Amino acid sequence: MFLENLYWTAYLAYRARQQARVPFLPQEEIIRRQRKRLHEMVAYAYRHVPYYRETMRARGLTPDDFYTVEALERLPIIERSAVQEAPERFRSEIIPQDRLLYTHSSGSMGIPIEVWHDHRAVLENASHGERQRAIYTRFIGQALGYRETVLISIASVAGDTQGLVASRLALPRALRIQRQYLKMADSFEHNVREIQRFRPHVLHSHGSYLNAFFPYLYAHGITFPSLKLVTFSSDNLFPGARRLIEEEFGLPVFGTYQTIEAFQIGFECEAKRGYHLNIDLYPLRIVDEAGRTVPPGETGEVVISNLVNRGTVLLNYRLRDLAVLSTEPCPCGRNLPLLACIEGRNDEFIPLASGGRAHPTTVRTLLIIHPEICQFQVLILPRYTCDVRLIVRPGCDREALERSLRADWQQRFGEALRLRHIHYVREIPRPPGGKPRIILPCPEEDGEEGSP
Ligand SMILES: [Zn+2]
Repeated sequence: MFLENLYWTAYLAYRARQQARVPFLPQEEIIRRQRKRLHEMVAYAYRHVPYYRETMRARGLTPDDFYTVEALERLPIIERSAVQEAPERFRSEIIPQDRLLYTHSSGSMGIPIEVWHDHRAVLENASHGERQRAIYTRFIGQALGYRETVLISIASVAGDTQGLVASRLALPRALRIQRQYLKMADSFEHNVREIQRFRPHVLHSHGSYLNAFFPYLYAHGITFPSLKLVTFSSDNLFPGARRLIEEEFGLPVFGTYQTIEAFQIGFECEAKRGYHLNIDLYPLRIVDEAGRTVPPGETGEVVISNLVNRGTVLLNYRLRDLAVLSTEPCPCGRNLPLLACIEGRNDEFIPLASGGRAHPTTVRTLLIIHPEICQFQVLILPRYTCDVRLIVRPGCDREALERSLRADWQQRFGEALRLRHIHYVREIPRPPGGKPRIILPCPEEDGEEGSP
């Protein structure tokens, strides 16, 4: 076991140095690597994963039909519900259970799923993280031996993967990144005390948690002097909250795009133009409602393929995030394409009295133009009315904000969607283990939502 650990340590150190350079490789080289991985993964799936073997045979396809990612469009889009109903059909038949890491999502969309990651993928993932860690290191001032607080939901995928990585590495303790795991479900007061005790250099959480946590810190005059960097993933950090962290706390903030189905889809760089996509590892396309690929600049749903994980193999898998690919290159010089923004989920449309449905982005746009708003939630009520919950920056002029918000709302929606109450809250309720929803459907419609 010790020799195996030494092997992995040397291998990962070597890979980490290489990975930091990947975003700057010429585009042709990135595509070449993507195609090599794609062909290997499809060949693997064809041999060892029941779903792909059956689907490809039924369509008369073989691995030799897959030399470019465009060919993935010849496979059906995999829905989350398909993986939920028969997870074993997507799992490798040849990797023994004790070589797989089990992860699951609690199903904030009502569909919990399980995803198995093979150990090699988890360790590889640790070196892929170097693509963004190379940016963070400049702010932290040291590449190893720093402390990081991670605020997560109850079931910790992060803790499991870090545990696995640590158990495979022969690094002396002083060189490892020391991590403190705290629960988002615990009170702010408790978490503040724990963070003050641990004195982290880096704080990581969900965007939605930071949206509420930093206004709380600001209102109570709490700072963490050791802190040098804030990172987030899982859901959006609102522009108002980002500005508060950057300007009032003087801390740089970086987001990553990651899910349990694909650990490292993308990351923000210093230019903050969106997420650089690791397309050699997780090719991504944007599709319309019919599943057709739409060009950069158009909003649609994210479909990804995971070319790293051979435990649960997901090729052409719909994530349900709404996003737009950027039409511009990034000024930072990285050649990984940009996902301009992630706008929420496609199940959050709001019914209007006029008969149509409002896109969640319409409401989001009305709210995020106010820099005082750190987070919001729209509660859809019967008869085309709604309430809005707001977390605002302490000291904000609520009367002026409300006047302006109501005027914009009236102009945009008129009688099609009436804004009833505005509630100022400290936290937006978080479903157990899940993400708080931006648009909360009317309770009467909940039954409909859960049915297939
Ligand atoms: Zn960039």
